Amino acid sequence: MNKRRNFILIGGIRLFLFVVVFFPGTLKAQQKQMLVLKNTSFVDVEKGELVSDVDILILGSLIQDIKRHSPERVYPDAGVIDLEGYFLIPGLIESHTHISSLRSEESLTIALKKGITTLRDMGGDGRYLLDIRQAVKNGEFPGPDIYFSAIMGGRDFIMNDTRVKLSTPPDYLLGEAPWARLIENEENIPQIIIDAKECGATGIKIYAHLSGDLVKKLAVEANANGLKVWAHGVVYPATLEDVINSGVQVISHANSLLLKSDWNLKKDGSLAIDTTLLSSPKLDDIFKTMKERNVYLDPTLVVMKYMTSAIKDEKRSDRIEQAIFSVVRLAHEYGVSIVAGSDTPLPGSDDMEMPLFTEMKLLVNEVGLSTIEALISATLNGAIILGIDEMYGSIQAGKVANIVVLKNDPLENIINLGSVEFVIKDGKIIK
Ligand SMILES: [Zn+2]
Repeated sequence: MNKRRNFILIGGIRLFLFVVVFFPGTLKAQQKQMLVLKNTSFVDVEKGELVSDVDILILGSLIQDIKRHSPERVYPDAGVIDLEGYFLIPGLIESHTHISSLRSEESLTIALKKGITTLRDMGGDGRYLLDIRQAVKNGEFPGPDIYFSAIMGGRDFIMNDTRVKLSTPPDYLLGEAPWARLIENEENIPQIIIDAKECGATGIKIYAHLSGDLVKKLAVEANANGLKVWAHGVVYPATLEDVINSGVQVISHANSLLLKSDWNLKKDGSLAIDTTLLSSPKLDDIFKTMKERNVYLDPTLVVMKYMTSAIKDEKRSDRIEQAIFSVVRLAHEYGVSIVAGSDTPLPGSDDMEMPLFTEMKLLVNEVGLSTIEALISATLNGAIILGIDEMYGSIQAGKVANIVVLKNDPLENIINLGSVEFVIKDGKIIK
């Protein structure tokens, strides 16, 4: 037996003892009795603080109440777990990933066990995404709740991009799958939006090669039909200004804040950024508008770092990487809301760090978010951009009980996100 297996076995025994010793009511609790997480602390992402000495009461899938802990109070019919010394955070939301390329159920289960209870897929095969979402809902295997987007783009992008080809099943013509759609004129947009909604997407993702007028029309139509509007910054020929004023809710990728207005994906690639923009008044206006219009930024620093590290010229690589961190820092200083997403597939093995954790570490260490701000970006803000914050995104009475139990305080150091003891999703302990 190798070391890793030994480790897993010991971990398993520890968890078993933990459940038996501290949680004698386990079986009862699984039969829809109340579950009480007793004598513990949780991160209140609504108020931005750690709340100590509480009992969290869960009934069915919902947090029923949060009471101040008192040693005298007993819960005779409930399953009670004493979580003194632990730190509870809301289930994490990975706001930018792509799961249809790997199609790995195992990676979804690993992500859930590491604390990711919800994810936003930003482009893939909609039919697969709908199926896998349903499989999770049906309890066929443990995984996060899945939300996805329908990609919209102009001819140059849709007809040439390999990922669009991979997301289009053979029974669809390229550009006609509702989740990977070619936009050429305004007339078809109402039907295209209806198709996107009917395929199960939560939002549209405006990708590339569209005019400002088409971006605006897409955003207006999607908003009117209850779909979220997510976009790249520069869609070209639509400019960053066109995009943030169109009615979008989220801009993805920090690099897109620094691309020149005449940037062309096909011609220039993704890292043709103009670092002089960092000190230009143009960015002030952009960030003021984003804040005013409540446009969130999804910087995807993990993938940005990956892309810049592939640049051979080390000086250029460093310069671009620093510019990308700086632009997010500036956005944050202006009060633009940040949402955490790595734009990286979920790892297929247990020993790799979750890309979302890496994203949060970069937000803290390179951009200057506080640990509580990083947690908000990966919980409450993720729920807001999906439009599910009424029921998700924080530990609060009335919301769905998606809770991660950590051994160490994530507010003290963000790396403590790795100290997961166990995860509760929809009020149930994930085994
Ligand atoms: Zn992406």
